[in-house]
Amino acid sequence: MIVGGGLAGLYAIHRLRKLGLKVRAYEAGSGIGGTWFWNRYPGARCDVESLEYSYSFDEQLQQDWKWPERYGTQPEILKYINHVADRFDLRRDVQLDTRIKSAVFESKANEWVVKTESGEEIRARYCVMAAGNLSTPRVPDFKGLQDFKGKWYHSGLWPHEGVDFGGLKVGVIGTGSSGVQMIPIIAQQASHLTVFQRTANFSLPARNGPMEAERERQHKAEYAARRAAAAETPFAIGGYPRPTQSALEAAQAERDAAYESKWQEGGSISYLYAYTDLLVNKASNDTASEFVRNKIRGMVKDQRTAELLAPKDHPIGTKRLCLDTHYYETYNRPNVSLVDVRFDAIQEITETGLRLASGAEHELDALVFATGFDAMTGALREIDVRTTDGAALREHWEGGPLTYLGLMVSSFPNMFVVTGPGSPGVKTQMIASIEQHVNWIADAIEHLGKHQLDRIEPTPRAESEWVHHVNQVADSTLYPLANSWYMGANIPGKPRVFMPYVGGFDRYKKRCDEVAAEGYEGFTLSRHETVAA
Ligand code: NAP
Repeated sequence: MIVGGGLAGLYAIHRLRKLGLKVRAYEAGSGIGGTWFWNRYPGARCDVESLEYSYSFDEQLQQDWKWPERYGTQPEILKYINHVADRFDLRRDVQLDTRIKSAVFESKANEWVVKTESGEEIRARYCVMAAGNLSTPRVPDFKGLQDFKGKWYHSGLWPHEGVDFGGLKVGVIGTGSSGVQMIPIIAQQASHLTVFQRTANFSLPARNGPMEAERERQHKAEYAARRAAAAETPFAIGGYPRPTQSALEAAQAERDAAYESKWQEGGSISYLYAYTDLLVNKASNDTASEFVRNKIRGMVKDQRTAELLAPKDHPIGTKRLCLDTHYYETYNRPNVSLVDVRFDAIQEITETGLRLASGAEHELDALVFATGFDAMTGALREIDVRTTDGAALREHWEGGPLTYLGLMVSSFPNMFVVTGPGSPGVKTQMIASIEQHVNWIADAIEHLGKHQLDRIEPTPRAESEWVHHVNQVADSTLYPLANSWYMGANIPGKPRVFMPYVGGFDRYKKRCDEVAAEGYEGFTLSRHETVAA
């Protein structure tokens, strides 16, 4: 059984079916698509280029599909996902409108017994958690929200019929990737838009545009080789030359020319890949951060607003680097204002708007929360995952998520996690990571079958060594300097642990392959009768 009918769940159906297994996915939404089903806010678009952000498992699929723009919009990506589901006949194994409430591993039966919110019970040998990393929307616990007379929305729970902000006074709280994408569009509709910013975020121009025919032709001619080359990079995204030099080895004029060319090119990987050490050396990073701050100062006319928008509390790239289309220029519009809620926090939502700690009031007709998600662990923490041997996932992860390779959790046999904490997923082209994980899981299940085995779980030792390694790698970078969702910092009370593996997709994939080749090193494989005996 598979939890989730997004990009991961759908590929898992396809891949596991090929093993001759009976497979079924359970999806909370009323349609497939996961992230791309839910996040329908104005301007929602992927910030990885379409030719990269797509499945690679079927050559004809990647040849046939035509992406109209450099970066896919949410409706376009959802259309693509639906096309894939029909093309590979996946839909018949997805049960929609079904939220999973609990999952209990019955040790004696060697089965997962999963219950849905409506009381249905599903029994399965293997449970694949493909529930997403950014799928648990979070509205901060502001006092008074229930009294607000206007309408409010969260980016990740957007109404399917769309929202008309025409003529309204709108407030947007949050300036992460979602906020940065929606703000320029809402600004064009609203009579006035007030953006409530707690932390300024770095954003680079996406330079979106129609797909260039020649670029597409060339990319498709070399698709397989390009996918293979992408797998040899830290972000699983190809096409960017590997940097060879520290930022500090270049003279300032040379450096600025390099940053300028990346700025013009558009895209975040390109920029962060300008030098070898932008994510590990603070002095090097300062040069890249300052370049962008100066760009912001140049784009935003009001210098007080520009300074507020210029991030100073974290190195560029240590929070997810945003891509935008005219984000900073939006603050030059007469109907847009920026309010700093770091120093004057939101105290409460009122009937007519919101009130800050200083007592300042902002009148609003509509309020948008672009406030993010309970990232990486939220979806699994919402399910009561236990075993009849007494393990409970919420307790196991009380001090932060523990996994081996981000794929499995000790004491929870036969439960796989797709792109979970401890894996590089969220730091990569996500579909590449999904395919790599699902392929690894399918190979592991096939291996068990071939050897008349039916149970796999990581040893506690392999798990704790991997978690230690994940932390060590993170500590050798600048990432822990930011209060990011990678650190659980956006959720009050969540343990501050760096969750993704930032050693790179290339190294990680190699490690996963070695582990499998060495007979699933660090895992205990068994036949449950033997275990029971
Ligand atoms: P996010 O990056 O977590 O940003 C949430 C924003 O809300 C932050 O600015 C945060 O401020 C603010 N916020 C949260 N609680 C607040 C409070 N109580 N008061 C004031 N401000 C508050 O969430 P997101 O923008 O939805 O993005 C999440 C992730 O989804 C991204 O990092 C990315 O991986 C993915 N995503 C990708 C795309 C894309 O591909 N283009 C688009 C959208 C999302 P602080 O920074 O101070 O916490």
